[in-house]
Amino acid sequence: MSNLPLSGARLWADLHEIARIGGTPKGGCNRQALTDLDAEARAWLAARATALGCTLHVDPFGNMGLLRPGRDASRKPIAFGSHLDTQPTGGKFDGVLGVLAGLELLRALHEAGAETEAPLLLVNWTNEEGARFSPPMMGSGAAMGIFAPEQVLGATDASGARFGEELARIGWRGEAALPEMGAYLELHIEQGALLERAGKSLGIVTHALAQSWYEVVVEGAENHGGAPMAGRRDALMAAAPLMAAVEEIALAARAPDGEPGRGTVGCVSVHPGSRNVAPSRVWFSVDTRHGDPAMLAWMGEQLRARAAEIAEARGVAITVTDFWHSPPTPFDARLVGFLREAAARRGLPAMEMPTGIGHDAVYVARRVPAAMLFVPCHGGLSHNEAESITPEWAEAGLLVLADAVLAAASQPADPTPMTGAPDGAEV
Ligand SMILES: [Zn+2]
Repeated sequence: MSNLPLSGARLWADLHEIARIGGTPKGGCNRQALTDLDAEARAWLAARATALGCTLHVDPFGNMGLLRPGRDASRKPIAFGSHLDTQPTGGKFDGVLGVLAGLELLRALHEAGAETEAPLLLVNWTNEEGARFSPPMMGSGAAMGIFAPEQVLGATDASGARFGEELARIGWRGEAALPEMGAYLELHIEQGALLERAGKSLGIVTHALAQSWYEVVVEGAENHGGAPMAGRRDALMAAAPLMAAVEEIALAARAPDGEPGRGTVGCVSVHPGSRNVAPSRVWFSVDTRHGDPAMLAWMGEQLRARAAEIAEARGVAITVTDFWHSPPTPFDARLVGFLREAAARRGLPAMEMPTGIGHDAVYVARRVPAAMLFVPCHGGLSHNEAESITPEWAEAGLLVLADAVLAAASQPADPTPMTGAPDGAEV
């Protein structure tokens, strides 16, 4: 198995061939979930994998599984993959790299006439991006029972089209669940710049950060823009330092390993929103993330403490409400070990890191032993038509993914029952 004809050049050619489906003039990709282009990409993948002797499975949410038999049919398949859907101004690699690296592994095994102990399953999850239908990671979330089927099938896009009807219209609404997985490995671009800055070709992802989202409302009083400053209770002038504090708190939230938290204010609404009126009400969202749940809780306490200080100093009312919480998700230690060993054996520079970004593997990890592998992307740029990686990074990801999948598929099934990470309350 160690000298399978895995080809980085074939993977690179595939990445550019499928990028033509939804290709944009700026060199990116617009292949949103459940569009005709999504259907075309799915058919492209299915044709290639079935030609290698794989059987196509499609579940009620459109998740695709391409099953390659193993010597021991009683074993649950070792799964790997990612997603083929993109953002409206997406790149050529986000998601696609993980699926096509899986296809190249199946091709190399087929060419070598090699058989694995456990069956293998290449997966393309539906609507990872959450661009056309919200929330993201809908297919994996539904397959893992995190979202109710009716929540997913009934979701509507901006035009009012329903997920379930669009899925049927493009011909990818299946009946039965995908085969139950014994393990799941996902290769993905980093979507950050840590690896490139550190000069590493691989990130071994050990866990996903915990998240707490809040809503903040600041209430003051409206005032004419020409009125004297004294005695104003301007809600936006109180909200502004609290927004700045979100960043300060994230940077101050250092875990013992030195990794700071993440803090984002992504949405703001200001009332009444008139140029010459000091605002009376501001609403904004806060997204906080940390690898250590205790530090995440500390970030929430700090946010509330700063809100109370600012409210007092400015004579406004500030309420901070919990909106959503997601627990930290550890990846499976055994699978992380396979990735680490493979990178070392191949002599590829790797570092261990968490993911602050949601991925299908994070939902899958709640039910199935799972792990993730990152490769760098230039400047950390993604969800952007200019997203780019090198052929060497793609090949490094392919080789280590393949080695880890084969290690998992050739070892006896893991006897320890997987408890998975605890569920959070989902949006
Ligand atoms: Zn992605």
